[in-house]
Amino acid sequence: MATKLDLVPVGEWGFFTLPRPMVIAGPCSAETEEQVMKTAAGLAAEGIHMLRAGIWKPRTHPGCFEGIGPEGLKWLRRVKEELGMFVCTEVAGEKHVAECLKAGVDMVWLGARTTVNPFLVQEIADALRGTDIPVLVKNPVNPDIDLWIGALERLNRAGIRRLGVIHRGFTTYEKIQYRNTPGWQVAVELRTRIPELPFFVDPSHMGGKREFIADISQRALDLGFEGLMVESHCNPECALSDAAQQLTPSELGKMLSSLIVRDKDSDDLSYREGIGALRSRIDLLDEELISLLKSRMDISAGIGRYKKEHNISIIQAARWDSLMADVIEKGGEKGLSEKFLRELFGAIHEESVDVQNRIMEAD
Ligand code: PEP
Ligand code: MN
Repeated sequence: MATKLDLVPVGEWGFFTLPRPMVIAGPCSAETEEQVMKTAAGLAAEGIHMLRAGIWKPRTHPGCFEGIGPEGLKWLRRVKEELGMFVCTEVAGEKHVAECLKAGVDMVWLGARTTVNPFLVQEIADALRGTDIPVLVKNPVNPDIDLWIGALERLNRAGIRRLGVIHRGFTTYEKIQYRNTPGWQVAVELRTRIPELPFFVDPSHMGGKREFIADISQRALDLGFEGLMVESHCNPECALSDAAQQLTPSELGKMLSSLIVRDKDSDDLSYREGIGALRSRIDLLDEELISLLKSRMDISAGIGRYKKEHNISIIQAARWDSLMADVIEKGGEKGLSEKFLRELFGAIHEESVDVQNRIMEAD
């Protein structure tokens, strides 16, 4: 299902220079004037034109550093005036928007904890009405693509046409190596639904640790996302928030130059022939898969009728467990991952149970 937004292409925003990736970088939080100026100067020296810095910080526990507040907007103005950079910050309500507009901030973003809340998103959209400031929307903390799209729609209906998104992964209760679970499939689905939306990935909040930033950034580029928002601090160890995930400007510069930037597509004739041949093989196999699945469901329907005649219930857990164990073993021998097999056969089983249910319910 495609979603239609009325958008100004990112190439016309005037901020980002090609070749991609488009990079936004800067400290998690603006802490002192000196820290902001020093970090920004370091980033400018690495060729970065857009500074991020949190002015109001959404912290989990009260009593942590919750941002310097409007005082920091004066430092961002200095960055603009003295270094010629563009500046952006997070807004989480109408007061923040008013302060940012007054201070001449070039772009704002909605944080993950704001995107989840339609009341706040609407409040921000109303406060932005009549301006043409670009707005980036981070994914909500939970993997709900409609909530994410809903936030974009609210802003777009308020007349914001320079819209983009930032994928920072999703909060999870499970213990994983990253801070957030990437959930790339949600980002890929959003890209499919609204292909013209500029897409940034935030490897800092996704990874939570410096050591993961390069790999996540490369993954983002491999998937075809064109922007990165990365946290950078002149002295990361002393950062007042998110110390473990910030890079110095020169570390960031090195990381960026190590990335392999992939083309979106190619007009090269031999590439087009090669990819065309591979894709037609995939198309043929997909057709075969569809007819195999149809035959399998027909047999499930037969089983449903047979069970109904003999008054037997649909679910037989032992049969399902042994089928799954068998599939995992055979698939594993062929190099298919257990996760993939469980998900695929889980979906097949669910559909098969539905087919049988419909038969049981019919008179
Ligand atoms: C941030 O970018 O500083 C931030 C708070 O991130 P998130 O909204 O992704 O948690
Ligand atoms: Mn942060």
